[in-house]
Amino acid sequence: MIYQPEIETMPINKLRKLQSERLIEQVKYLYERVPFYRMRLDEAGITPADIRSINDVSKLPFTYKTDLRDNYPFGLFAVPQSEISRIHGSSGTTGKPTVVGYTKSDIDIFSEVVARSLVAAGCRPGMIMQNAYGYGLFTGGLGLHYGAERLGMSVVPVSGGMTERQIMLMQDFGSDALCCTPSYALTIAEELSRRDIDPQSLKLKLAILGAEPWTDSVRDDVERGLGVTATNIYGLSEIIGPGVSQEDHEEKGTGSYIWEDHFYPEIVDRKTGEPLAEGEEGVLVFTTLTKKAMPVLRYWTNDITSLYYDKSGKRTHIKMGQILGRSDDMLIIRGVNLFHTQVEAVLEGFIDLSSNYQLIVKNEGKMDEVEVKVEIGNELWRQLAITSLDNEVVQNHDRLSLIHRALQKKIKDNIGLTMNIQLLNPGAIPRSEGGKLNRIVDVRKK
Ligand code: ADP
Repeated sequence: MIYQPEIETMPINKLRKLQSERLIEQVKYLYERVPFYRMRLDEAGITPADIRSINDVSKLPFTYKTDLRDNYPFGLFAVPQSEISRIHGSSGTTGKPTVVGYTKSDIDIFSEVVARSLVAAGCRPGMIMQNAYGYGLFTGGLGLHYGAERLGMSVVPVSGGMTERQIMLMQDFGSDALCCTPSYALTIAEELSRRDIDPQSLKLKLAILGAEPWTDSVRDDVERGLGVTATNIYGLSEIIGPGVSQEDHEEKGTGSYIWEDHFYPEIVDRKTGEPLAEGEEGVLVFTTLTKKAMPVLRYWTNDITSLYYDKSGKRTHIKMGQILGRSDDMLIIRGVNLFHTQVEAVLEGFIDLSSNYQLIVKNEGKMDEVEVKVEIGNELWRQLAITSLDNEVVQNHDRLSLIHRALQKKIKDNIGLTMNIQLLNPGAIPRSEGGKLNRIVDVRKK
């Protein structure tokens, strides 16, 4: 099933025409209404008349997160406050949030793209959606909520956290679908296993996961642990929230469709900002095409991925790959660029290891060092029948030392860095308690 077949399978030339019309309007609209954009365009020597088609998008200047901060809270709104029907903020936990506003028509678009996404994820009207995304300033909770209602699902607005209650509701209500962060899905899966609840005894069949980077290693654990098909949902407050792109449940692993009738994507070089070709890896940049309260031109997401058209996909819209990470979260270790997702990806295939891991970045010696802490899986832990685990135990144990060496080698081969590996017992690494999880602990002395 496709939610809006006419739009989602629109021939590319027709889609380009629609995007062109919308971009021309959006630029004119912002130039007339938001002093910040007028100033930026004037500085770049561009007038709305220079934008004649979607191909002209690259003439426009970028908008950065700092621009939102500099105009805190409402400086980039294009409508009077009386027309704003909702205000959200980014999920950042420190300092002032990045503020975004929505008109009624923006909320309508938000609901539409989330409904589209949910259908792509395998959800259908009549199903029960357990929404364990955080409600509040963060766009996840209400975004998924409205989209699921739009689709005709029954929404359980449980929000994140209280894992035992999540499981009770899943059992008692017979939830068909769960949405939350991938790290929280792991927490729920683990709690099921701890309580010896067979995932097959639940009605749950779908998990829609996003808000933080994740790889197939986590997908495998979530799918096995919850008995679901898990797909990726991506988005950010500055563009609208979750539902900017979504992976189809029957096209898993081939990327997530970007709803490009509303959000026009580009990939640009991280350093120069030059547009890159299909398939090349760089920073994802979005221009909104239909928003009213706070449209953005060429918003620099900082997220690193690539874009491509999938000729064998069900839809015509462009796909994005998994997000490697945010460019400001990229570590540079002895000259090598490193995202934590690269280490996560290496864990795939190590059936004796869990996907609970953490990277500790240190500089005790002269050089930066990365230590990978990773828990061994429950199955192996049971077989080992030991009570504690340290390097000495690992070195003196054939199977553990083999895993240790194999992981170190695969990391070296795939990433190009030698990392210290520390195998830990299950439960040793902090878990998501409902929201995004920080995988990197940087203890370098400056
Ligand atoms: P904050 O910047 O405070 O986290 P948001 O809650 O709007 O604000 O989060 C948006 C960011 O979350 C994205 O820019 C991206 O880095 C990350 N994100 C969201 N969905 C995904 C996803 N499916 N995969 C990877 N990263 C994601």
